[in-house]
Amino acid sequence: MSAVRVRFAPSPTGLLHLGNARTALFNWLFARHQQGTLVLRLEDTDAVRNDPEAERGIYVSLRWLGLLWDEGPVAAEDPQAPGRGEYGPYRQSERTELYRRCLEELAAAGKVYPCFCSELELEQERRQAAAAGLTYHYSGRCRSLREAERADRMAQGRSPAWRFSVPAGLVEVDDAIRGRLSFDSGQIGDFVVVRASGKVTYNFACVVDDQHMAISHVIRGEDHLSNTPKQALLYRALGWEPPAFAHLPLITGPDHKPLSKRHGDTSLDRFYRDGCLPAALDNYMALLGWSSPDGEEILSLAEMAERFSLERVHKAAAVFDLDKLRWLNGKYLRALPPEALYELVRPHLELAGYPLNGRPREWLWAAVDSIREKIDLLSESVAAMRLYLQEPFSRSAEAERVLQEESARKVAAAFAAELLGRARLDEAGFEEVVAELKKKLKLKGKALLMPLRAALTGEVQGPELKKAAALLGLAECRKRLAEGSVAEKSSGVL
Ligand code: GLU
Repeated sequence: MSAVRVRFAPSPTGLLHLGNARTALFNWLFARHQQGTLVLRLEDTDAVRNDPEAERGIYVSLRWLGLLWDEGPVAAEDPQAPGRGEYGPYRQSERTELYRRCLEELAAAGKVYPCFCSELELEQERRQAAAAGLTYHYSGRCRSLREAERADRMAQGRSPAWRFSVPAGLVEVDDAIRGRLSFDSGQIGDFVVVRASGKVTYNFACVVDDQHMAISHVIRGEDHLSNTPKQALLYRALGWEPPAFAHLPLITGPDHKPLSKRHGDTSLDRFYRDGCLPAALDNYMALLGWSSPDGEEILSLAEMAERFSLERVHKAAAVFDLDKLRWLNGKYLRALPPEALYELVRPHLELAGYPLNGRPREWLWAAVDSIREKIDLLSESVAAMRLYLQEPFSRSAEAERVLQEESARKVAAAFAAELLGRARLDEAGFEEVVAELKKKLKLKGKALLMPLRAALTGEVQGPELKKAAALLGLAECRKRLAEGSVAEKSSGVL
């Protein structure tokens, strides 16, 4: 039995975004590759910022991505069902008794001390450090308080924070991606493990939980690197062996600056609304810092899990490139059968208010099939399907402009005249009519097809015109030719 146990530990304070979703994915891939266990732990110690909606959002997002956890506060397959696992509870807010016991242990061993400094005093220290151009860390003022002084302050009813006494020396940590990391503990400063309010800090709760949940590998973003030496020190102070660490490379925007709001919305919600397929997003996120040993770029979750190793995670920052995500999404989308693609675009079309009821399913499938080459995101189907579904029909300004040309109106009128003798319009029929017009008007290519496209679809680009015309059908084509400035104004041509 493999003892690999990893965890994804988000704080339920907002939507998952690209950064933490990638962390979840890498933990999932590692766990699956190693036949290990993925734990979902909610770091909800911040009662003020916690949001039950955000907790629900985490479950929804992870399930959408197909990243099911093995242990957690609720069941992965059905978040209404109770969680599974022997190491719970899996919400930090339910583990306070454990933190209290561990704090007592540290206090009894003299490894933490009560700190009575007020926020104001700390702020002054911070300002002084900033004025001197130094990186701030706590001066250690309360470390040297004598027992009597502590008792005195306690007697005054001042509730202390608890700080960890950082021992002097080097802190060494092995990182599966970055190799051996060395930190000078002189740069760390005695840090708070439990605040005066009683709230445990992230570093303390994280170490206690990772130990008590038997976590073997901590895989998380590089932004946590500065926490790692603090955590390594806490493990040792509590007499525990730290787990293996692996810090994933930073994700930056195209300007090579850390990904932030400036680069636009990177919440999973946005990718969902835009119409990314979860498989494409998983695939794309895996490439943000990992590459497959065989160089293959398009891989399913199962294929990635099979190939995944921390050795192939890069150290260099990964650049978030929306164009590449779109490209990849387009590939996934075009690989779907038309029926499946239709089911995925349907919510977008419904949201746009297109009337879909009463349209035969086969027709809708064929219409979606005709535009699949034109879209990379599901949401783009709204614009791409306008030519079929917009009611009432209207033309874009560009299409109107095309039809202002006398020659264009002639083409449209000639086409309308040709349709008069037809009982139906299929793709072959459309081609016959176009061949006829070619002869009669001595026009070809764009000069012939652009006016027809503008007249029939109301757009200047779109799917193959014979397909579109056949899908619109004879009656609709006639109606559109009669509408607006098209056929009637080009009188006297034929
Ligand atoms: N709650 C922390 C976060 O969301 C977890 C960090 C960790 O994985 O240790 O960033």
